[in-house]
Formats: sequence, structure tokens, C-alpha cells
Amino acid sequence: MLFCKIIASEIPAKIIYEDEFSLAFLDINPINTGHVLLLPRRHFENIFDMPEDLAAKLSAVSKKLAIAIKGSLSADGINITSNNGAAAGQLVFHAHTHIIPRYTGDGFTHWKGKRGYKDGEMNELVRKIKTALN
Ligand code: 5GP
Repeated sequence: MLFCKIIASEIPAKIIYEDEFSLAFLDINPINTGHVLLLPRRHFENIFDMPEDLAAKLSAVSKKLAIAIKGSLSADGINITSNNGAAAGQLVFHAHTHIIPRYTGDGFTHWKGKRGYKDGEMNELVRKIKTALN
């Protein structure tokens, strides 16, 4: 698995940050320069099989990286995002978070919502998701 090989130093990467449970390096095909990927050293496919305490630790590191990237590259904003599952655009199946510096007028736009809700649909969705949380 590609990212496992980077973690094992079998494939080179430009490492920005590492600790006992995570590693962050420059994305080879950046959206903007300074686009960083943060990943757990242990192999998980994505958010669905990752333990909650590890996800929390990675979230704290992503905040630290976001502040460092924004400050050092004079970014106007930062996107922190992860693609979980092929349908969500995940291409590399080792869990990772994208930390992307953004600049006013850099040309990237947010997804446009496709539709609104029908009568009663929101209540039904809230019920379904809340039930799954319990
Ligand atoms: P995702 O799986 O979230 O769609 O994206 C995978 C990301 O990994 C892409 O942004 C891609 O540019 C990056 N990537 C793919 N292969 C390599 C590689 O060998 N080295 C590095 N540094 N990044 C990679």
C-alpha cells in the first residue's frame, strides 16, 4: 500500500511533521502549493475503520498543521478535508486528511447544492441519523 511504504521510508516524501502515531507530508499533486496530507502510521482504510481516539489525536494535529501552514505561507484560509470511500473521491485507501492552503480568488469554488428538501424529509433524515448515533 502506497502510504504504508512512505511511512516505512520505502518511498520518499517531503515530511512536514511526525510523531509516534502520525506523519504529514506534501501532497505530490497539490491543489495549491503547501497542500499537506496527514495520516496515521497504523494502516486504516479511512474514517470508518479508524479508532475514535486516533481520529481525535489526528484532528488535534491537523489544527496545529493548519495554523503553521496558514502562517508560514501567508494563506488566507485552509481547507481540512478527507475523502472516505471511492464514492467520496478516495483514491488512496490509507486514511488521510488533506490540509490545503487557500487564497482569496484562487479559483477553487465549493460544491453547489443540487436540491432542497421536500416537506417532512428533513425530519425523517434527522430521525434516521440520530437513531444510528444511539
Ligand atoms: P484521495 O485518496 O483523498 O482522493 O487523495 C490522495 C492524494 O494522495 C492525492 O491528492 C494525491 O495527489 C496524493 N498522492 C498520491 N500518490 C502520492 C505519492 O506517491 N506521494 C505523495 N506525496 N502524494 C501522493
